[in-house]
Amino acid sequence: MTHWYEQRDVEDGLVRISEPHAHEIVRANVWWLRGSERDLVVDAGLGVVPLRREVPEILARDPLLLLTHAHLDHVGGAHEFAERAAHGADAAALARGVPASLDGPELAERLGTEDVGASFPDLLLDALPDPGYDPGGYGIGPVTLTRTLSGDERIDLGGRVLTVLHVPGHTPGSVALLEERTGVLYSGDAVYDGYLIDDLPESDVAAYRRTAAFLADLDVRVVHPGHGRSFGRDRLREVTERYLRRSAPADRA
Ligand SMILES: [Zn+2]
Repeated sequence: MTHWYEQRDVEDGLVRISEPHAHEIVRANVWWLRGSERDLVVDAGLGVVPLRREVPEILARDPLLLLTHAHLDHVGGAHEFAERAAHGADAAALARGVPASLDGPELAERLGTEDVGASFPDLLLDALPDPGYDPGGYGIGPVTLTRTLSGDERIDLGGRVLTVLHVPGHTPGSVALLEERTGVLYSGDAVYDGYLIDDLPESDVAAYRRTAAFLADLDVRVVHPGHGRSFGRDRLREVTERYLRRSAPADRA
């Protein structure tokens, strides 16, 4: 059986979990934060392998799952959590069951991005979790929320308080979480160190530009993103300002 999840202790009370055998376009980060009162899990991975099978401790303290947005690589494991929160603007997409497939071209078609998706591989995994695993049977069922967010809520875990930030653009209901005391931002797909995706049917470039301008000025120490490595404030500013340049309306460029 393949060891599916990679766990790394980032700092005291914070674990990053990722799926190294998933193709990079669907290889997202799960952030597990431990408070003195309760735990918070930011995003839930693809759901190819149940978290409870390899990381059962993540479910031990009845954590709140916060979904940064309604995309398969963040939502697949949501059904394992009893308490599920996300922004109301992504709630309908979650309730329908988000588009999902482990076949690259098929996923691109379901996401509505056939043009870029032509280059996706036929299998978005480089190993199977076990020899009998059927990637064709992969899918994500409807996710109903037990808590609907609108932005500006505070989530108190005991010893750490996080503020929900509504950062639309990638999807209408994208959220990030800011721990003001430590200057830590959990950014989902609003910003990561890479090419920001704003051309999905549910994306909104004008909203994304407002989000990028807001994030560029945010005073943070470290960003823990939805994909890839963590980075500091300077890189946050570079990535968001690069996005603002590339997305500038042509008639004003
Ligand atoms: Zn996404």
